[in-house]
Amino acid sequence: VRALQRQGLRPKTQVRLATGRGEITSDIVLTRSRIAIFVDGCFWHACPRHATWPKHRATWWRAKLETNVRRDVRQRRRLREAGWHVFRVWTHELPEQAASRVIRAVSTIRHRRL
Ligand SMILES: [Zn+2]
Repeated sequence: VRALQRQGLRPKTQVRLATGRGEITSDIVLTRSRIAIFVDGCFWHACPRHATWPKHRATWWRAKLETNVRRDVRQRRRLREAGWHVFRVWTHELPEQAASRVIRAVSTIRHRRL
């Protein structure tokens, strides 16, 4: 969030966004560019680089984590349908790097409108 503010953006946090079916809470939102950012933990959202599949109660954990992943996919699709640009940031990413990815997208989106 701070990295985005330094770029002169006005990010809001924990915003409830309306979609066709119910509301979805996004971690960071840039309203003007219609960007919704989700900051996802590597474990809970099964990041491709750091996902660990616990061996103890393996079946239960696998079902639980796969449910999370499916819910992420579903929610983000609904937001896209509602006209949002959806970004996912992993907790392993450096804030500055994640921010610059978002900032590049912001300028692309603004250009497209001109
Ligand atoms: Zn990760």
